[in-house]
Amino acid sequence: MPPKPASTFWTSLSGARARPVNGGALAFCRTFATTVIRYRRAAEPTIPNTTIIVFRDVSPLRQWRRKQLHEYRTVGLVPTMGALHAGHLSLIRLAAAENSAVVVSIYVNPTQFGVHEDLDSYPTSWEQDCKLLMNLDRELANDGGNMGKIAAVFAPTTAVMYPSGRPGQEIDAKGSFVTITPVGERLEGASRPTFFRGVATVCMKLFNIVTPEKVYFGQKDIQQTVVIKKMVKDFHIDTQVVVGETTREPDGLAMSSRNVYLGTRRRKVATVLSKVLRVAETGYLRGKRTRDEILGPANELAKLLLIEQHQLHKVRFEIDYISLADPETMEELEIVDESRGAILSGAVKMLPVEAPQPDEDLGFGGGPPVRLIDNIVLKPVIL
Ligand code: AMP
Repeated sequence: MPPKPASTFWTSLSGARARPVNGGALAFCRTFATTVIRYRRAAEPTIPNTTIIVFRDVSPLRQWRRKQLHEYRTVGLVPTMGALHAGHLSLIRLAAAENSAVVVSIYVNPTQFGVHEDLDSYPTSWEQDCKLLMNLDRELANDGGNMGKIAAVFAPTTAVMYPSGRPGQEIDAKGSFVTITPVGERLEGASRPTFFRGVATVCMKLFNIVTPEKVYFGQKDIQQTVVIKKMVKDFHIDTQVVVGETTREPDGLAMSSRNVYLGTRRRKVATVLSKVLRVAETGYLRGKRTRDEILGPANELAKLLLIEQHQLHKVRFEIDYISLADPETMEELEIVDESRGAILSGAVKMLPVEAPQPDEDLGFGGGPPVRLIDNIVLKPVIL
């Protein structure tokens, strides 16, 4: 007969504790409790050939988390939507260097996708993600410089993450949401009005479930890091936000799970945004401080690249925005305050290729428009 759910056991055990029992009964209770804990532990699967536990629900993860606390082990959380790549792995490495146990969450959060966005086609690759985590875990074990290892993956269902039912993706959808304004309404928030509401909501849930000492986010999504830092500050969440550098392909393209949508032809020219931002950065490094001086040459380069790419490759892109903003508020700047620095960021939409060839690799999903984002931090000048 399969054992009863542990909650029933615990209820009856606490009931037993409340009554006067003799030594034999106490010993029985202890053995019973140990068996339950063993059963609970065995019930959580692990990624094959690893000790990485896969949690799908909240209460077993909380039970595990309590144990870490009792054993004075720190926990670092790396939230992801899966389709892992080297950028995600760099965050996990950073977390393992600073914590005893790393939890990687893998969850494609519906509420951060707009109604017309790519939720249904968002790349998922569970098997491949598990392999990458297995290999990384081995690498971490062999590297003496780490404090900890990948202890667990939290891969919940939507029913678990949204226990009152999944809210809609519409702007006026009702539900329990976290909104961080005005920073969440600017730039990415202006182009994707429900995005940061979804991100802040899911991160609040993850932080409440895992209660990590530290959480790890990539600079690649810099406005997200600003929103999360503000949420942590304003809601007094007891965690520290750590931002890891953007991992790039050799040609400078920021790694992203969405790059698989590009296909061969658009991939060749997808560096447009990083090139444009580099030109703006060069201006700042050479002492330029006004918006026109910094962004002017960047916008000129964008125009040139647009013509060149269309002539040579029959690929067009649209610039959504190129921004020079304050590092804490993401408010647009006319002049950079040297003591604060600034964030240069941008978004471009790579349009579907023109005249696709019969056997051409158009990318995952048949080559829909792909929105790419990137940024560079202009550091304060230390006088
Ligand atoms: P995602 O799965 O796209 O939601 O990303 C999960 C986390 O990985 C976020 O904190 C991202 O900012 C981070 N991330 C994504 N791409 C990169 C990258 N190229 N370099 C560093 N971090 C990244």
